[in-house]
Amino acid sequence: MINELLPRLLQDSDFDREMTNLGLKAYHGAQQRAGLKWRNGRWPCMYPGCQHKAIGSHTLQKSNSLEAIAEGPRPGAGVVVTPKFDPAFGDRIDTNLSFEKASIFPGFCGDHDRELFKHLESTSGTPDPRALVLQCCRTFSRERRVHNHAHETSKAGYDAMVHDQHVAIGRRLEGLAGKPLTAIAGFRTAERFQYDANELRRIRHGASAQWEFVKSFEELAPSVDDFYRDSTARFPQMFIKTWAVSTCLDFALSGADDIGLSFAPIPIFYFVMPRSGVSLLAVFSHIDDEAILAALLQQKGLYDLKPGQTGAGLFRFFEQLMINRTNHWFLRLSAWERLLDDDKKRLADEVNIHERPVIGDGTPIFAIPEGLEVTRNAVWRPSPLK
Ligand SMILES: [Zn+2]
Repeated sequence: MINELLPRLLQDSDFDREMTNLGLKAYHGAQQRAGLKWRNGRWPCMYPGCQHKAIGSHTLQKSNSLEAIAEGPRPGAGVVVTPKFDPAFGDRIDTNLSFEKASIFPGFCGDHDRELFKHLESTSGTPDPRALVLQCCRTFSRERRVHNHAHETSKAGYDAMVHDQHVAIGRRLEGLAGKPLTAIAGFRTAERFQYDANELRRIRHGASAQWEFVKSFEELAPSVDDFYRDSTARFPQMFIKTWAVSTCLDFALSGADDIGLSFAPIPIFYFVMPRSGVSLLAVFSHIDDEAILAALLQQKGLYDLKPGQTGAGLFRFFEQLMINRTNHWFLRLSAWERLLDDDKKRLADEVNIHERPVIGDGTPIFAIPEGLEVTRNAVWRPSPLK
Protein backbone atom coordinates (compact mmCIF):
# COMPACT_ATOMS: atom_id res chain seq x y z
CA MET A 1 0.00 0.00 0.00
CA ILE A 2 2.66 2.49 1.06
CA ASN A 3 4.62 1.71 -2.12
CA GLU A 4 1.70 2.89 -4.21
CA LEU A 5 1.03 5.96 -2.10
CA LEU A 6 4.55 7.42 -2.02
CA PRO A 7 4.92 7.95 -5.80
CA ARG A 8 1.53 9.67 -5.86
CA LEU A 9 2.67 11.89 -3.02
CA LEU A 10 5.95 12.81 -4.76
CA GLN A 11 4.25 13.62 -8.08
CA ASP A 12 2.03 16.24 -6.48
CA SER A 13 3.71 19.64 -7.05
CA ASP A 14 1.73 21.06 -4.17
CA PHE A 15 3.43 18.53 -1.87
CA ASP A 16 6.84 19.82 -2.89
CA ARG A 17 5.74 23.39 -2.25
CA GLU A 18 4.36 22.51 1.17
CA MET A 19 7.59 20.76 2.19
CA THR A 20 9.72 23.73 1.09
CA ASN A 21 7.48 26.16 2.94
CA LEU A 22 7.54 24.07 6.11
CA GLY A 23 11.34 23.96 5.95
CA LEU A 24 11.63 27.74 5.53
CA LYS A 25 9.09 28.36 8.29
CA ALA A 26 10.95 26.10 10.71
CA TYR A 27 14.26 27.86 9.99
CA HIS A 28 12.82 31.36 10.21
CA GLY A 29 11.13 30.44 13.49
CA ALA A 30 14.38 29.07 14.91
CA GLN A 31 16.30 32.16 13.73
CA GLN A 32 13.73 34.46 15.28
CA ARG A 33 13.80 32.68 18.64
CA ALA A 34 17.61 32.56 18.52
CA GLY A 35 17.78 36.30 17.84
CA LEU A 36 15.60 37.00 20.86
CA LYS A 37 17.68 34.68 23.01
CA TRP A 38 20.92 36.33 21.83
CA ARG A 39 19.64 39.78 22.80
CA ASN A 40 17.47 39.04 25.83
CA GLY A 41 18.34 35.57 27.06
CA ARG A 42 20.21 34.74 30.23
CA TRP A 43 23.79 33.91 29.27
CA PRO A 44 26.35 32.94 31.90
CA CYS A 45 29.53 35.00 32.19
CA MET A 46 32.40 33.43 30.19
CA TYR A 47 34.94 33.94 32.97
CA PRO A 48 35.81 30.39 34.10
CA GLY A 49 33.54 29.37 36.96
CA CYS A 50 31.53 32.61 37.16
CA GLN A 51 27.77 32.07 37.42
CA HIS A 52 26.71 35.68 37.03
CA LYS A 53 24.63 36.88 34.12
CA ALA A 54 26.53 38.25 31.15
CA ILE A 55 25.88 41.86 30.22
CA GLY A 56 26.42 43.35 26.76
CA SER A 57 30.22 43.28 26.39
CA HIS A 58 32.01 44.99 23.54
CA THR A 59 34.01 42.75 21.22
CA LEU A 60 35.84 45.67 19.62
CA GLN A 61 37.01 48.54 21.73
CA LYS A 62 34.28 51.17 22.04
CA SER A 63 36.45 54.17 22.71
CA ASN A 64 39.42 54.59 20.37
CA SER A 65 38.28 51.96 17.87
CA LEU A 66 34.54 52.20 17.17
CA GLU A 67 34.56 55.83 18.15
CA ALA A 68 37.35 56.48 15.64
CA ILE A 69 35.07 55.55 12.73
CA ALA A 70 31.74 56.80 14.17
CA GLU A 71 30.23 59.86 12.52
CA GLY A 72 27.27 61.90 13.68
CA PRO A 73 25.87 65.33 14.33
CA ARG A 74 27.84 65.82 17.55
CA PRO A 75 30.59 64.07 19.55
CA GLY A 76 29.30 60.95 21.30
CA ALA A 77 26.30 60.64 18.96
CA GLY A 78 28.12 58.93 16.08
CA VAL A 79 26.76 56.00 14.12
CA VAL A 80 28.33 53.20 12.09
CA VAL A 81 27.12 51.09 9.15
CA THR A 82 26.79 47.34 9.76
CA PRO A 83 24.96 44.21 8.54
CA LYS A 84 21.77 43.60 10.46
CA PHE A 85 20.27 40.14 10.44
CA ASP A 86 16.64 39.75 9.42
CA PRO A 87 15.35 36.16 9.75
CA ALA A 88 13.11 36.53 6.69
CA PHE A 89 15.65 38.11 4.33
CA GLY A 90 19.13 37.42 5.65
CA ASP A 91 21.45 40.33 6.28
CA ARG A 92 20.57 43.88 5.37
CA ILE A 93 22.72 46.97 5.74
CA ASP A 94 21.88 49.12 8.75
CA THR A 95 23.26 52.64 8.26
CA ASN A 96 22.32 54.03 11.65
CA LEU A 97 23.73 52.01 14.56
CA SER A 98 25.04 54.02 17.50
CA PHE A 99 28.73 53.19 17.99
CA GLU A 100 27.98 52.74 21.69
CA LYS A 101 25.69 49.81 20.88
CA ALA A 102 27.92 48.36 18.15
CA SER A 103 29.87 45.11 18.58
CA ILE A 104 28.05 44.05 21.75
CA PHE A 105 27.69 40.39 22.70
CA PRO A 106 26.49 38.54 25.83
CA GLY A 107 30.00 37.69 27.03
CA PHE A 108 30.90 38.64 30.57
CA CYS A 109 29.24 39.85 33.77
CA GLY A 110 29.73 43.53 34.61
CA ASP A 111 32.55 42.89 37.08
CA HIS A 112 34.58 40.62 34.82
CA ASP A 113 33.97 42.73 31.74
CA ARG A 114 35.41 45.73 33.56
CA GLU A 115 38.24 43.93 35.36
CA LEU A 116 39.48 41.68 32.55
CA PHE A 117 39.61 44.32 29.84
CA LYS A 118 40.55 47.41 31.87
CA HIS A 119 44.07 47.32 30.48
CA LEU A 120 42.86 47.04 26.86
CA GLU A 121 40.16 49.67 27.23
CA SER A 122 42.66 52.20 28.56
CA THR A 123 45.05 51.60 25.63
CA SER A 124 44.96 54.38 23.06
CA GLY A 125 48.09 54.12 20.90
CA THR A 126 49.65 50.91 19.65
CA PRO A 127 48.57 48.11 22.03
CA ASP A 128 51.29 46.42 24.09
CA PRO A 129 51.45 42.58 24.05
CA ARG A 130 49.00 42.23 26.94
CA ALA A 131 46.41 44.51 25.28
CA LEU A 132 46.92 42.68 22.00
CA VAL A 133 46.32 39.28 23.60
CA LEU A 134 43.29 40.65 25.47
CA GLN A 135 41.76 41.70 22.16
CA CYS A 136 42.53 38.25 20.70
CA CYS A 137 40.83 36.61 23.70
CA ARG A 138 37.78 38.82 23.40
CA THR A 139 37.48 38.07 19.68
CA PHE A 140 37.91 34.36 20.43
CA SER A 141 35.28 34.40 23.20
CA ARG A 142 32.72 36.14 21.04
CA GLU A 143 33.24 33.72 18.15
CA ARG A 144 33.04 30.76 20.52
CA ARG A 145 29.69 31.95 21.85
CA VAL A 146 28.36 33.00 18.42
CA HIS A 147 29.23 29.73 16.71
CA ASN A 148 27.86 27.58 19.54
CA HIS A 149 24.65 29.56 19.38
CA ALA A 150 24.49 29.34 15.57
CA HIS A 151 24.93 25.59 15.77
CA GLU A 152 22.15 25.23 18.35
CA THR A 153 19.96 27.41 16.17
CA SER A 154 20.40 25.36 13.04
CA LYS A 155 19.90 22.16 14.99
CA ALA A 156 16.63 23.51 16.43
CA GLY A 157 15.56 24.58 12.92
CA TYR A 158 16.41 21.16 11.50
CA ASP A 159 14.53 19.30 14.25
CA ALA A 160 11.48 21.55 13.81
CA MET A 161 11.57 21.03 10.03
CA VAL A 162 11.78 17.24 10.30
CA HIS A 163 8.93 17.19 12.81
CA ASP A 164 6.62 19.51 10.82
CA GLN A 165 7.27 17.76 7.52
CA HIS A 166 6.69 14.39 9.13
CA VAL A 167 3.29 15.49 10.47
CA ALA A 168 2.33 16.93 7.06
CA ILE A 169 3.40 13.74 5.21
CA GLY A 170 1.32 11.67 7.62
CA ARG A 171 -1.71 13.85 7.00
CA ARG A 172 -1.32 13.63 3.23
CA LEU A 173 -0.84 9.85 3.28
CA GLU A 174 -3.97 9.47 5.40
CA GLY A 175 -5.83 11.69 2.94
CA LEU A 176 -4.70 9.61 -0.06
CA ALA A 177 -5.39 6.26 1.62
CA GLY A 178 -8.59 7.31 3.31
CA LYS A 179 -7.50 5.61 6.54
CA PRO A 180 -5.22 6.20 9.54
CA LEU A 181 -1.46 5.79 9.15
CA THR A 182 -1.44 2.72 11.39
CA ALA A 183 -3.81 1.00 8.96
CA ILE A 184 -1.68 1.72 5.87
CA ALA A 185 0.10 -1.50 5.00
CA GLY A 186 3.90 -1.12 4.99
CA PHE A 187 4.00 2.31 6.63
CA ARG A 188 6.83 2.62 9.11
CA THR A 189 7.60 5.82 11.03
CA ALA A 190 11.32 5.27 10.53
CA GLU A 191 10.92 5.53 6.77
CA ARG A 192 9.66 9.06 6.79
CA PHE A 193 13.01 10.29 5.47
CA GLN A 194 12.71 8.51 2.16
CA TYR A 195 10.55 11.16 0.56
CA ASP A 196 13.54 13.53 0.31
CA ALA A 197 16.52 11.76 1.79
CA ASN A 198 19.18 13.64 -0.17
CA GLU A 199 18.02 17.04 0.96
CA LEU A 200 17.92 15.90 4.57
CA ARG A 201 21.37 14.34 4.27
CA ARG A 202 22.70 17.58 2.82
CA ILE A 203 21.34 19.65 5.71
CA ARG A 204 22.50 17.08 8.23
CA HIS A 205 26.00 17.10 6.72
CA GLY A 206 26.07 20.92 6.90
CA ALA A 207 25.09 20.72 10.55
CA SER A 208 27.78 18.19 11.39
CA ALA A 209 30.48 20.25 9.61
CA GLN A 210 29.32 23.23 11.65
CA TRP A 211 29.55 21.15 14.81
CA GLU A 212 33.10 20.04 13.94
CA PHE A 213 34.02 23.71 13.56
CA VAL A 214 32.48 24.62 16.93
CA LYS A 215 34.31 21.73 18.60
CA SER A 216 37.63 22.80 17.09
CA PHE A 217 37.52 26.02 19.17
CA GLU A 218 37.88 23.98 22.33
CA GLU A 219 41.58 23.40 21.73
CA LEU A 220 42.32 27.04 22.34
CA ALA A 221 39.75 27.54 25.10
CA PRO A 222 41.64 26.19 28.17
CA SER A 223 44.64 28.49 27.70
CA VAL A 224 42.33 31.46 27.08
CA ASP A 225 40.57 30.63 30.35
CA ASP A 226 43.96 30.50 32.09
CA PHE A 227 44.77 33.89 30.65
CA TYR A 228 41.48 35.28 31.98
CA ARG A 229 42.37 33.94 35.43
CA ASP A 230 45.76 35.67 35.30
CA SER A 231 46.41 37.98 32.36
CA THR A 232 49.92 38.79 33.54
CA ALA A 233 51.08 35.17 33.47
CA ARG A 234 51.39 33.60 30.01
CA PHE A 235 50.26 34.05 26.47
CA PRO A 236 47.47 31.63 25.55
CA GLN A 237 48.43 28.88 23.07
CA MET A 238 48.11 31.33 20.17
CA PHE A 239 50.13 32.16 17.12
CA ILE A 240 49.39 35.84 16.41
CA LYS A 241 50.39 37.78 13.34
CA THR A 242 49.85 41.55 13.52
CA TRP A 243 50.44 44.45 11.19
CA ALA A 244 49.97 48.15 11.59
CA VAL A 245 49.16 50.46 8.67
CA SER A 246 49.63 54.19 8.38
CA THR A 247 45.95 55.22 8.23
CA CYS A 248 42.84 55.01 10.37
CA LEU A 249 40.90 52.61 8.12
CA ASP A 250 37.17 53.12 7.55
CA PHE A 251 36.16 49.79 9.06
CA ALA A 252 36.51 47.71 12.22
CA LEU A 253 35.79 44.00 12.32
CA SER A 254 36.20 40.77 14.22
CA GLY A 255 35.56 37.18 13.14
CA ALA A 256 36.49 33.53 12.78
CA ASP A 257 37.03 31.36 9.77
CA ASP A 258 37.89 27.83 8.77
CA ILE A 259 40.96 27.19 6.65
CA GLY A 260 40.83 23.40 7.06
CA LEU A 261 38.49 20.75 5.69
CA SER A 262 34.88 20.24 6.73
CA PHE A 263 35.77 17.07 8.65
CA ALA A 264 39.06 18.52 10.00
CA PRO A 265 38.52 22.25 10.54
CA ILE A 266 41.32 24.67 11.37
CA PRO A 267 39.88 27.80 12.93
CA ILE A 268 41.55 31.16 12.47
CA PHE A 269 40.44 34.41 14.10
CA TYR A 270 41.00 38.00 13.09
CA PHE A 271 40.24 41.61 13.87
CA VAL A 272 40.80 45.13 12.57
CA MET A 273 41.19 47.95 15.07
CA PRO A 274 41.20 51.39 13.46
CA ARG A 275 42.64 54.09 15.69
CA SER A 276 43.47 57.71 15.33
CA GLY A 277 46.06 57.84 12.52
CA VAL A 278 46.86 54.12 12.50
CA SER A 279 45.11 50.72 12.26
CA LEU A 280 46.05 47.44 13.82
CA LEU A 281 45.23 44.27 11.90
CA ALA A 282 45.66 40.77 13.30
CA VAL A 283 45.08 37.10 12.45
CA PHE A 284 45.63 34.32 14.96
CA SER A 285 45.22 30.58 15.39
CA HIS A 286 46.17 27.84 17.82
CA ILE A 287 49.97 27.62 17.98
CA ASP A 288 49.78 24.11 16.48
CA ASP A 289 48.19 25.57 13.33
CA GLU A 290 50.93 28.15 12.81
CA ALA A 291 52.36 26.50 9.69
CA ILE A 292 48.99 26.39 7.93
CA LEU A 293 48.05 29.97 8.78
CA ALA A 294 51.55 31.17 7.84
CA ALA A 295 51.26 29.38 4.47
CA LEU A 296 47.98 31.17 3.75
CA LEU A 297 49.52 34.54 4.63
CA GLN A 298 52.56 33.78 2.50
CA GLN A 299 50.38 32.83 -0.43
CA LYS A 300 48.64 36.21 -0.04
CA GLY A 301 52.02 37.98 0.09
CA LEU A 302 51.41 39.33 3.60
CA TYR A 303 53.70 37.31 5.82
CA ASP A 304 56.96 39.13 5.16
CA LEU A 305 55.69 42.66 4.53
CA LYS A 306 58.21 45.25 5.70
CA PRO A 307 57.55 48.70 7.13
CA GLY A 308 57.43 51.19 4.27
CA GLN A 309 55.91 48.73 1.80
CA THR A 310 52.43 49.27 0.44
CA GLY A 311 49.52 48.13 2.62
CA ALA A 312 47.34 47.44 -0.46
CA GLY A 313 47.52 43.63 -0.11
CA LEU A 314 46.64 43.79 3.59
CA PHE A 315 43.74 46.07 2.78
CA ARG A 316 42.40 43.66 0.16
CA PHE A 317 42.79 40.66 2.47
CA PHE A 318 40.89 42.22 5.36
CA GLU A 319 38.35 43.73 2.97
CA GLN A 320 37.76 40.19 1.71
CA LEU A 321 37.21 38.97 5.27
CA MET A 322 34.75 41.82 5.77
CA ILE A 323 32.75 41.41 2.57
CA ASN A 324 32.77 37.65 2.14
CA ARG A 325 33.36 36.11 5.54
CA THR A 326 32.47 37.76 8.87
CA ASN A 327 29.31 39.81 9.29
CA HIS A 328 30.66 41.42 12.43
CA TRP A 329 31.93 44.59 10.78
CA PHE A 330 31.39 48.30 11.20
CA LEU A 331 31.94 50.88 8.51
CA ARG A 332 32.30 54.63 8.54
CA LEU A 333 29.08 56.27 7.31
CA SER A 334 30.84 58.56 4.83
CA ALA A 335 32.70 55.56 3.34
CA TRP A 336 29.32 53.88 2.74
CA GLU A 337 27.85 57.06 1.28
CA ARG A 338 30.80 57.45 -1.09
CA LEU A 339 30.04 54.06 -2.69
CA LEU A 340 28.23 54.06 -6.02
CA ASP A 341 24.71 52.59 -5.88
CA ASP A 342 25.91 49.50 -7.74
CA ASP A 343 28.64 48.91 -5.17
CA LYS A 344 26.22 49.43 -2.27
CA LYS A 345 24.00 46.79 -3.82
CA ARG A 346 26.97 44.49 -4.39
CA LEU A 347 28.01 44.83 -0.75
CA ALA A 348 24.44 44.15 0.42
CA ASP A 349 24.34 41.03 -1.79
CA GLU A 350 27.78 39.78 -0.81
CA VAL A 351 27.14 39.87 2.95
CA ASN A 352 24.66 37.05 2.41
CA ILE A 353 27.12 34.87 0.52
CA HIS A 354 29.36 32.96 2.89
CA GLU A 355 30.58 30.22 0.59
CA ARG A 356 33.44 32.15 -1.01
CA PRO A 357 36.62 30.67 0.43
CA VAL A 358 39.20 32.87 2.13
CA ILE A 359 41.84 31.26 -0.12
CA GLY A 360 40.51 33.05 -3.23
CA ASP A 361 40.55 36.72 -4.10
CA GLY A 362 37.21 37.96 -2.82
CA THR A 363 35.16 40.84 -4.15
CA PRO A 364 36.94 44.22 -4.03
CA ILE A 365 34.51 47.08 -3.47
CA PHE A 366 36.35 49.83 -1.59
CA ALA A 367 39.14 52.08 -2.84
CA ILE A 368 42.51 51.47 -1.18
CA PRO A 369 43.39 54.58 0.88
CA GLU A 370 46.00 56.64 -0.94
CA GLY A 371 49.54 56.13 0.32
CA LEU A 372 48.57 53.26 2.63
CA GLU A 373 51.80 51.90 4.10
CA VAL A 374 52.75 49.08 6.41
CA THR A 375 54.30 50.52 9.58
CA ARG A 376 54.77 47.32 11.56
CA ASN A 377 54.78 43.56 11.11
CA ALA A 378 55.10 41.31 14.15
CA VAL A 379 54.66 37.72 15.25
CA TRP A 380 53.69 36.55 18.75
CA ARG A 381 53.97 33.08 20.16
CA PRO A 382 53.28 31.72 23.66
CA SER A 383 55.78 33.11 26.14
CA PRO A 384 55.67 34.51 29.68
CA LEU A 385 54.28 38.03 29.75
CA LYS A 386 55.98 39.34 32.88
ZN1 LIG B 1 31.72 37.03 35.72
